[in-house]
Amino acid sequence: MIASRLPFEVIRQPSTMRAWAENLRRDGLRICVVPTMGYLHPGHLSLLRAGRARADVLIATIFVNPTQFGPNEDLAVYPRDEEGDIEKARECGVDLIFCPDVEAMYPQGYQSYVTVEELSRPLCGSARPGHFRGVATIVTKLFHITQPHIAIFGRKDYQQFAMIRQMSRDLDFGIEIVGMPIVREADGLAMSSRNAYLSAPERSAALCLYRGLKAAQARFHSGERDSLALLDAARQPIEDTELARIDYVDLRDATTLELVTSVSRPAVLAMAVFVGKTRLIDNAVLGID
Ligand code: AMP
Repeated sequence: MIASRLPFEVIRQPSTMRAWAENLRRDGLRICVVPTMGYLHPGHLSLLRAGRARADVLIATIFVNPTQFGPNEDLAVYPRDEEGDIEKARECGVDLIFCPDVEAMYPQGYQSYVTVEELSRPLCGSARPGHFRGVATIVTKLFHITQPHIAIFGRKDYQQFAMIRQMSRDLDFGIEIVGMPIVREADGLAMSSRNAYLSAPERSAALCLYRGLKAAQARFHSGERDSLALLDAARQPIEDTELARIDYVDLRDATTLELVTSVSRPAVLAMAVFVGKTRLIDNAVLGID
């Protein structure tokens, strides 16, 4: 257990959280926030540990944000374990947990949203209309409530990270946005709260995402730079897997997320794949290792 200086608190009211944050800032303390939707796994915990090392006060937020789910998505069944999450967060050295109710974040009559234009259009933006508007809105609200100097996100949600970094710059949030590497299971599956949905055969099938990324990386390392060839290599293991169905597999500039036809600068190979009814995402950046 990492020693932390504040008493551990679980806060549910936005006004209480904000008052805490304002006092901590007044005391000259550096605040880090790690936003999550809970059901914490080692991927989340890696962000918390990184935050613990970078700030005086570590805040974890747990909120399953309804505005980032589409009407036919998994909001109602999204896995939750608040008690377990609080214990895990405390063990990682979190000082304050902010876990508001939906009504506290979106009271009756709520009508304000944040949109990041270009970065939220492709990939998950076109596959999940409205998703990134919901993400940008809730992250903005969480930033205003927790008043962080630094915020930590996982690169597993690569487009989300890129969009939040852009938003923070564009809107002068003055918050350092840090992206951490993807944490994987021993066999390569990217850790995700949604992995809990997978049956045993689906869990095996889900490895096709990692196999696809590895196949494309191998082609890239052997000198292939053509997007179509790299995408073919990524798609093959997925298409060969009976329980898997591609939502998208795409290769885009790692900064702008514009399409690339050939990799001459770092590019992100990003994919979303349905395994049974569960939609999984994964990615790898080509050209920076
Ligand atoms: P979520 O609870 O899924 O909204 O995720 C909260 C944060 O944890 C986001 O910044 C995610 O990118 C990050 N995260 C989720 N899974 C992983 C993982 N396997 N490795 C690294 N970061 C992750």
